[in-house]
Amino acid sequence: MTPAIKEKIEHLRNTIRYHDRRYYVENNPEITDYEYDKLIKELEHLEKLHPEYTTPDSPTKRVGEEPLTQFPTVEHRIPMLSIDNTYSDAELREFDQRIKRMAGIDAGRDIEYVVELKIDGVAITLWYEDGLFARGATRGDGFKGDDVTANLKTIRQISLKLEPAHKKYKIPRVLEIRGEIYLPNKEFQRLNEEKEEAGEPQFANPRNAAAGSLKLLDPRITARRRLHIFAYAVGFYEGVQLKTHMGCLELIKEFGLPVNPNIRLCKNIGDVIRYCDEWDKRRGELDYMVDGMVVKINTLALHEQLGATSKSPRWVISYKFHPEQAVTKIEEIVVQIGKTGTLTPVANLTPVLLAGTTVSRATLHNFDEVSKKDIRVGDHVIVQKAGEIIPQVVYVLKEKRIGTEKPFVAPTFCPQCKEKVSRDNEEVYLRCHNPLCIAQAKRRIQYFAIRDAMDIEGLGPALIEQLVDKGFVKDYSDIYYLKYEDLVTLERMGEKSSQNLIHAIEESKHRDLDRLICALGIMNVGSHTAEVLAERFDTLDKLASATQEELEGIYEIGPVVAKSTVEFFQNKHTQVIIKKLKAGGVNTSKLVTQILAKNLKVSGKTFVVTGTLQKYSRKEAETLIKSLGGRILSSVSKKTDYLVVGEDPGSKLDKAKELNVHVLDENDFKEMISCK
Ligand SMILES: [Zn+2]
Repeated sequence: MTPAIKEKIEHLRNTIRYHDRRYYVENNPEITDYEYDKLIKELEHLEKLHPEYTTPDSPTKRVGEEPLTQFPTVEHRIPMLSIDNTYSDAELREFDQRIKRMAGIDAGRDIEYVVELKIDGVAITLWYEDGLFARGATRGDGFKGDDVTANLKTIRQISLKLEPAHKKYKIPRVLEIRGEIYLPNKEFQRLNEEKEEAGEPQFANPRNAAAGSLKLLDPRITARRRLHIFAYAVGFYEGVQLKTHMGCLELIKEFGLPVNPNIRLCKNIGDVIRYCDEWDKRRGELDYMVDGMVVKINTLALHEQLGATSKSPRWVISYKFHPEQAVTKIEEIVVQIGKTGTLTPVANLTPVLLAGTTVSRATLHNFDEVSKKDIRVGDHVIVQKAGEIIPQVVYVLKEKRIGTEKPFVAPTFCPQCKEKVSRDNEEVYLRCHNPLCIAQAKRRIQYFAIRDAMDIEGLGPALIEQLVDKGFVKDYSDIYYLKYEDLVTLERMGEKSSQNLIHAIEESKHRDLDRLICALGIMNVGSHTAEVLAERFDTLDKLASATQEELEGIYEIGPVVAKSTVEFFQNKHTQVIIKKLKAGGVNTSKLVTQILAKNLKVSGKTFVVTGTLQKYSRKEAETLIKSLGGRILSSVSKKTDYLVVGEDPGSKLDKAKELNVHVLDENDFKEMISCK
């Protein structure tokens, strides 16, 4: 039994590492985040039962460390100096000549450079001893940084243990790897959407978001931010021979840490300049922000020889891209309404070319921002995309005003439903509190159908728009009353897509409780909090009748979430909607009460359930078996491994006895699935 558990744990760890690679390194995940989290939970569960098999490099060590009160300080073995900037081709040529002079290299000879994208993130260092990740720190002032080891461990791309892909590489005694932590644009957008829903101020750009996430004292929150890393240099090392910077990057790649693919070895400065120009034009293609290029001498012996000034190394320079700005005019300011009623001002601009794309909208963040910058309709403004994905209005060209510009007044009524709007305590956002507001309803239905929630494929924004406008759907519970005949009448809905949608809706009725809780769109309750709540309450009814105190008593649930949850379920409209969901056949209980571990005894085995069990309905027992990796058969045959019998089993029991099939009573069954 014991070796089997050990094997099982090892297998799970390898599976998780495989999916980490698919997700981060190959950018091609095979499973959903939800399924991934289940694997992690399963591993945690097994490790808790068998602490003797815990290892420091287990994927579970990435999360679950306790919050800190402050970060300890770490002194850098080799200072993390800043890099000098250049802004033109001429300056790059000067750099090349300066180096040749200092190193005594003939002006006509070429120096090899490695040119890399300058990722706009946060510089960090990772310290590996005998291949194990010992600690990681921020750059700080260059000499001392913050020890953010626990937070760095949550980044799935950072190997907790260095493992060479090829045998010829040995693990160095010490290896310090330096890199840039960043947030991909899509994660940044997701994070800001969550912030908006929670009524919190949004991050201005992905760099701020990455820096903020890395400096959180609670690593469990950092884990949810999905930070990424590109490693770009080796710092201190011992027990390995390195001659070139390219060799360093090869070594890092060999050990499984991600190195940016757009790196080029250039044979001279002319090559360098061409490559920098190329990326100045192409930077918009990337899913992360870059603010320039970094040019490094390839030969490490030259690094030694040139050394550093008090501020920066002499063998490296950065080439900064020009900030992308343009002048345009504000045509109008519109107000968008989010799923929880948040009002956001957005500027419609006279279309202008910026960073290779035509820009016609800019976010104004919130109404305070509009009045602070004194942005008026008709104003000429500077818009910019520097580190931001969505263009921003930097400032108003007040000298261009002709007197017809109209100051923008924050709305006091919802532009959609005309209900009075108000500002919640300490919030920067205005909110429409009308539960019947159509604009919010559309957003809520969209949210209900997304992948992390009820995952209804084909139910996208355009279709929801039509369904609501035509009166087929008022709130998300109406989805479960849609008929094929309604759908085929809609634009762009053929017979096939209507059938598929009906099927997807039907299928979504069987989602687990946490998905449903998430889908309801309770303010401040995202997919993680939904899981926490589902863990504690077996049914939606139990959650709905929970008190503020009860909710606050749950680990990870604070007063804000508790309050919005209670308010949500007390709302009369909510109660009607939930009744409709139930009547429409939507599952409102936890599908399995046990942890979803693929139980060794159950996995791969075949089961028949018969008779009346006391603790489970037949369906529950079968779902449980399936979730643990077992298969359900309808009748007993030679292929049956186990027959689970309740009261009044009937003929199946006789058949099982005849064929020598193992028979389990309810107690045996309970013991088997308890995974101990
Ligand atoms: Zn409204």
